[in-house]
Amino acid sequence: YYNDKTILFYDGEYVKAKEAKTDLYGQSLHYGYAVFEGIKSYKTANGTKIFKAKEHYERLIKSAEAMHIPFSYSTREMIDVTYKLLEINNLSNAYIRPLVICSPNMSLSKGQKSYLVIEAWNWDNGYLANKLRIMTSSFQRPNPKAFKIEAKVSGHYVNSILASQEAKDKGFDEALVLDENGNVAESSGANVFYEKDGKLYTPQKGNILPGITRATVFEICNQLGISYEEKLFTPQEMQGADAAFFCGTAAEIVAVESLNDIPFRMNWEDSLSAKIQQAYRHLVVEENYSYLKSSLQNV
Ligand code: PMP
Repeated sequence: YYNDKTILFYDGEYVKAKEAKTDLYGQSLHYGYAVFEGIKSYKTANGTKIFKAKEHYERLIKSAEAMHIPFSYSTREMIDVTYKLLEINNLSNAYIRPLVICSPNMSLSKGQKSYLVIEAWNWDNGYLANKLRIMTSSFQRPNPKAFKIEAKVSGHYVNSILASQEAKDKGFDEALVLDENGNVAESSGANVFYEKDGKLYTPQKGNILPGITRATVFEICNQLGISYEEKLFTPQEMQGADAAFFCGTAAEIVAVESLNDIPFRMNWEDSLSAKIQQAYRHLVVEENYSYLKSSLQNV
């Protein structure tokens, strides 16, 4: 993630990653009481562009508010800082990780002071041709009555680590995590869709992190005239459908080959999901839908 030369943004300054320090007496380290984002930038014909920067930083501000973490950066300030950070580190295709740390304070009351750290590292998108074998997790997503799950909070990701590692230990690539009622929620770090008879389905809000990529998939569907529905469904309903994919900023749109070893029926390349994957790839580097209009009209 970093080397001797890497610079990160730390509480108003650009400092060497190697020399940056955090204190060991804080709520973020001890309790997972921190909020963060995962953002990507792309090399485009018009230079390096951060995809949906505004949406990500607005969500960071909302996550801090939901956690009662005092936080005063504006979206504009954070976008400017991020472009500068990419430039300093000579990054183009990059993953950007802003983190709001609450420190120093060890109490179980709301944070008194926070500081913003932004890290960025080179990101190779080459793995996108992967097709995932996934399994239903034995872990549930955090219960929305116990957590504010629409906020991107560091502590929630302990659940993600458990679910993802369980899947890997059992020989799968990733986990499909259910809500407390046994309906499909999402993956450890991505939202999920399945395709059946020319229509897409994805879990409704309530038990998921409502992803920015998920919202982008809706935009693409609207552009392509593909219908979609947000609804509750069980893994049994999803199993053996035509196709499925995970979507998130890091993963982008990644094909799911099978659920609990039951394959999805269509050839991925023939699915509407694959068209959406292609459209997303174009959108992140072209920032508009002109490609869709010219080459995908007949889906
Ligand atoms: N769900 C979870 C649990 C995630 O961690 C992520 C990644 N941030 C997503 C969904 C997808 O969100 P986004 O598309 O905004 O990256």
